[in-house]
Amino acid sequence: MNPVFKQLKQELDRVQSLFMALTLFDWDSATQAPKESIGLTSKAIGILSNEYYNALINDKVKRLLVQLEGETDLDDYEKAVLKEVKKDYEEMELIPADEYQQYSELVSNSKSIWEKAKKNHDFEQFAPTLEEVIGFKKKFADYTIKAKGGFSSRYDKLLNDYEEGFTTKQLDEFFSRLKEAIVPLVQMVVEKKDKIQKEYATRLYPIKEQEEFNIFLTNYLGFDFNRGVLAQSAHPFTTNLHNKDVRITTAYIEDLMESAIFSTIHEIGHGLYEMGVDDTLTFSPVGGGTSMGMHESQSRLFENNIGRSRAFWEPLFPVLKEKFKEQLEDVSLDTFLIGINKAEPSLIRIEADELTYSLHIMVRYEIEKQFMNEDMTMDQIKELWNQKYEEYLGICPTNDAEGILQDVHWSQGSIGYFPSYAIGTAVAAQIYAHLQTVMPLEQYLREGKLEEITKYLHEHIHRFGKTKNMQEILKDMTGEQFNPEYYIKYLQEKYTKLYENL
Ligand code: ZN
Repeated sequence: MNPVFKQLKQELDRVQSLFMALTLFDWDSATQAPKESIGLTSKAIGILSNEYYNALINDKVKRLLVQLEGETDLDDYEKAVLKEVKKDYEEMELIPADEYQQYSELVSNSKSIWEKAKKNHDFEQFAPTLEEVIGFKKKFADYTIKAKGGFSSRYDKLLNDYEEGFTTKQLDEFFSRLKEAIVPLVQMVVEKKDKIQKEYATRLYPIKEQEEFNIFLTNYLGFDFNRGVLAQSAHPFTTNLHNKDVRITTAYIEDLMESAIFSTIHEIGHGLYEMGVDDTLTFSPVGGGTSMGMHESQSRLFENNIGRSRAFWEPLFPVLKEKFKEQLEDVSLDTFLIGINKAEPSLIRIEADELTYSLHIMVRYEIEKQFMNEDMTMDQIKELWNQKYEEYLGICPTNDAEGILQDVHWSQGSIGYFPSYAIGTAVAAQIYAHLQTVMPLEQYLREGKLEEITKYLHEHIHRFGKTKNMQEILKDMTGEQFNPEYYIKYLQEKYTKLYENL
C-alpha cells in the first residue's frame, strides 16, 4: 500500500467508524428504540455528525489528498477511494460546520414530526419542517453549483448525488417513454380489474406463521444469518455497517400476507448486494453498492422479475400452503400467480404493483424537480401532488397520509432519490433479460438453486462496490449501457399475456 495512502486510510477508518455509529442509531431508532428516546438521541446524533464532519474535513485530510494527487503508484482500489473521498470532501468542505450540524439535527428530528403528522393525517404539522429541509437542500446544492458549476439546475445536482451522470434531460425522456408505454396498459388492467378476484389475500394470516415463513424465505434466498439480521420496522429497509453486518427489516400485516413476503424479498435483494461486496473493499468509502439505482435493480430483480414468476413459486408455493393450510386450501398456484401479479392504480407507492409503480415515481420526480428549481409554497406542493395523482393514476388521495405524507424520504432530506427507484426497476428488467441468456434461469428457479443466480450477481455486480459505476457495470456485464426498452418490453409482454385471456 502506498505509504501516503496508508496515512489517509487511518483517517478514513475513523470517519467510517463514526458513520457506523450514526448508522446504528438510525437502525435502532427504526426498530427498537423507545419513542421518548428521540429528543436526546437526536442531540447525540447532532454531536456525532459534527465529529464525523470534523474527522473528514480537516487540514490533515486535505494535505494527504493533495499529496496523493501527485503519487503515481496508486493501485485501482487506492485510486477509487481517492476519487470518492475527494468528491465527498470537496462537497462537504463547502458547507459550514455549524450549518451541517443544524441540518443533521433537523433531519434526525424531522422523521418523528413526519410520523406524527402522518398519523394525524395533517400535512400542516409537517409543512414547516419540510420547508426547512428543502431550504437546506437548496442552499447546499447552490454551494456546489457556485463552486464547481457543471449542473444545469439544482435538481440536476441532487440527481447526480444518487445516480452519477444522470441528468434531468435524460430522465425527462425516460419518463415520457414510460408514460407512453404504461398508460395504455393501465387502461387495459382497469377495464378488466373485476376479472381477478384475490379474496384469499386478505384472509387472516397470523403474524407468528408469517414470521416463520419469511425467515424460511430469507434463508431460501441465501441471505446469510451469520452476517445479517432480519427485524421488523414500520417501513421495511436495508442498512449495513460492512459486508459482514447487513441488516434488513420487514413489516407484517395480518390481513395482507403478501405485503411482508414481497418486502422481505425486496430487502434481501439489497442485502445480498451488500454481502457480496469484496472483502478488500468493505469498510471503506468504496465498500458499498455503487448507486441507488443499481441497488434498487437488485432488490427489484428479486422482488418482481424473479419473485413474481411461476418458476420461483413452483417449489415454494407448496411450502406456503403447508404453513397456511386453511387460508390457502382452495387456492391453486395459478390463482396465486394471477393474484400476486394483479395490477391496479392505487394511492400508496410501496404497495403499488409492478405496472403502476413507475407512475408513482413520476409524480414525485416532477414535484421535487419543480420545488427544488423554483419557489413553491407548501400548499402548492400538496395541491400539485393531488393533481398529479388524478392525472396519472386517475385517483385522488382522500387524506394527507395516503397523499403527500406517505413517504419518509423528503423528511430525511432524500430529494432526488425517487428516480432511482424507476431507474433501478428498469435496470432489473435489463439484467433479468441478460441472465436468461447466460444461464438456465428458470430451471434454477424451479430447482431452488438461487445460489447460482446470486453467485453470478456477486461476480459481475456486487463485488466491485463503488469501484465501477452503474453504466460501467452494465456495459461490462451485458454489453450495453442503461437501456429502458427491456423494461418496457417486459411490462408489455407480461401484462398482455396475463390479461389477454381474462
Ligand atoms: Zn429498495
